[in-house]
Amino acid sequence: MDLYEHQARELFAEHGIVVPRAEVTDSPAGAREIARRLGGRAVVKAQVKTGGRGKAGGVRLAADPAEAEATARRILGMDIKGHRVGTVMLAEPVDVEHEFYVSYVLDRAAGRFLAIASAEGGTEIEEVAATRPEAVARIPIDPAVGVTSAKAAEIAAAAGLPTQSADVLVRLWQVLVREDALLVEANPLVRTRQGRIVALDGKVTLDDNSRFRQARWGDAPDTGRADPLEAAAAERGLNYVRLDGEVGVIGNGAGLVMSTLDVVARCGARPANFLDIGGGASAQVMADGLTVILSDPAVRSVLVNVFGGITACDAVADGIVRALDTVRLTRPLVVRLDGNNAARGRAILDDRAHPLVHQATTMDDAARRAAHLATAH
Ligand code: GDP
Ligand code: MN
Repeated sequence: MDLYEHQARELFAEHGIVVPRAEVTDSPAGAREIARRLGGRAVVKAQVKTGGRGKAGGVRLAADPAEAEATARRILGMDIKGHRVGTVMLAEPVDVEHEFYVSYVLDRAAGRFLAIASAEGGTEIEEVAATRPEAVARIPIDPAVGVTSAKAAEIAAAAGLPTQSADVLVRLWQVLVREDALLVEANPLVRTRQGRIVALDGKVTLDDNSRFRQARWGDAPDTGRADPLEAAAAERGLNYVRLDGEVGVIGNGAGLVMSTLDVVARCGARPANFLDIGGGASAQVMADGLTVILSDPAVRSVLVNVFGGITACDAVADGIVRALDTVRLTRPLVVRLDGNNAARGRAILDDRAHPLVHQATTMDDAARRAAHLATAH
């Protein structure tokens, strides 16, 4: 899960990294109040979980509280790369002398972390990395050792960061370790005209596997998420991706779902989504999955393709029957059950005898029928 800038800022502050004074609001009037508390001038910053806010006009300096209010009014509700701005953070402006870039990322292939740092930080960092890779230092970090003072000094020297930034480099690493993050980034990390090192912008991605240890962030979904159906699915803990076709696809296991998408495409139809109910799926998960898929008006038929393993087919069939009690089925459902307890699962669906539920015994046959139902008139 990605954190908002204001949440990352909070973590940085807790770990002793200097950040600008700041507060968050969802209203222009609130922005005026905050600017007043900050001393009048304020940087108004869109809170969305995507980068490039500055270039999109989502980061603006306001000279006084009235201008902060007007600026917040402009930024709130803006669309930045598909993310709607619901809140703004107002920060005390910092007198920037130089902008640096620093991040720690997990390098899965190498089984290590990587420090990426540059003396040319700021909004053009992607451009710098693409055109002059030598201006960006990449230093491997042994996760068992971490970023010691010596390592921090090595990173600072390699990237041309000021010696005094070494302390911040150690603290950013502590954020990564203690907060269970996969990515910690400060861009820009700045040296102010007063000679202080300040993190002006922060990005933190938490490891979802440790959500139970990081309960303070809750399960709050990203309300600014572009696709409302994906947001609804995420709220229910479903692994769902919306596509632009007409056949809804539900399966258990990412591999099976992906093959199902391929088979649907081969039958001349287009998948409307990817939905993996996973292993050990309950009737509730099935009901939730069907609810989400049927909320998509583009869906003209639904294909359920389950190979029973840990999730037995009778449990899936129970889930479908239960879903039929809570969801009004308006489009045909083609079900293929195979594997563990397949016969029992099929019998459960036969007993329910819903006119819109069709059963198929092979994946190819099921895909053919779902594709036909979706494309025929
Ligand atoms: P991003 O575009 O989403 O990465 O948003 P940032 O928070 O990084 O802001 C973009 C740019 O705005 C930074 O690189 C700075 O150049 C500038 N900026 C943001 N806050 C301040 C500030 O307090 N003072 C100054 N001088 N520049 C700022
Ligand atoms: Mn930034």
